[in-house]
Amino acid sequence: MNEAPPDQRSAPRIDMHVHMVGNGVAGSGGWLRLKGWHRWLAGFMLRQLGVPATALEGDLETIYAEHLGKLVRESSMDAVVLLAHERVHDPDGTPREDLGSMFVPNDVVLRLAKRFPEFLPGVSIHPARPDALDELERCLEGGAVLMKCLPNCQNIDFSDRRYEAFWKRMAEARLPLLAHTGGEHTVPVINAALADPRLLRFPLECGVTVIAAHCATKSGAFDRDHFEAWVAMLREFPNLYGDISAMVSLNRCGHLRDCLREEILPRILHGSDFPVPVFGHRMWLQGWIDRATFHRCQSIRNSLERDWQFKRALGFPEEIATRPGRLLRLRH
Ligand SMILES: [Zn+2]
Repeated sequence: MNEAPPDQRSAPRIDMHVHMVGNGVAGSGGWLRLKGWHRWLAGFMLRQLGVPATALEGDLETIYAEHLGKLVRESSMDAVVLLAHERVHDPDGTPREDLGSMFVPNDVVLRLAKRFPEFLPGVSIHPARPDALDELERCLEGGAVLMKCLPNCQNIDFSDRRYEAFWKRMAEARLPLLAHTGGEHTVPVINAALADPRLLRFPLECGVTVIAAHCATKSGAFDRDHFEAWVAMLREFPNLYGDISAMVSLNRCGHLRDCLREEILPRILHGSDFPVPVFGHRMWLQGWIDRATFHRCQSIRNSLERDWQFKRALGFPEEIATRPGRLLRLRH
């Protein structure tokens, strides 16, 4: 399935947006609380991956990590950034265990990255935590390659001036911020206004390399679309990028082809948003790819590979997967 073996390529291919999922059954301290639509969606995503939905009650961390490792090895990717998931916090730094649908502690991904050479640890820290800077140091020590936040789901206002020291330390350590931007429907939203990419101006001004997940596109029909605002910011901030994760989908693919524009493409990074399902139907129905290409790609069982092949078919170059290797805080 690999287009060329890693030793014949100049740089590794990295999918820089892959979620770790776990339920804490084996004692990680993490948890998963799914109700209604979110429970149905989680079961659906697991079955799509070939993992039985009953894994939700078992040692999900282990089952999921083993399965994901195998998918990476069988795909065109050399590695994936595996993301932790912070809890919701109040602006005063109090964790809200009563809100949110999951918690994946940083130690889960830091530990897995030591066991699996194909996993790179992406940590998650709410900057209002009283121990935020200590946790950041601990994660840097542990080998974190980026820091991920979902501002609208974890209740983080990136423009809050109190976070200046936190952003400056990230900039100094060359640890990029992967920030969710635009609507969200997989994880419960606490404050939709915080998905606006303009709030990223402050960390950008502090010198942080910022990657706007999903290029600030909308997720649901009634979400606000921030894509053009993000494009305008690209001109202003050379340290701003975007990932095209979850954009081979029915709901978020509207701007996928726009990301091939000459002014935008050099800032695009490849990410899948695994385990979010990959559907290329709209790409075919809108005439972006022909029927044969649609069927060839959609029939690929490995969804990491399916996502990559759809993007290649649309004209995205190899560089979108090698570019993360230059931005992430990798140890050589
Ligand atoms: Zn994601």
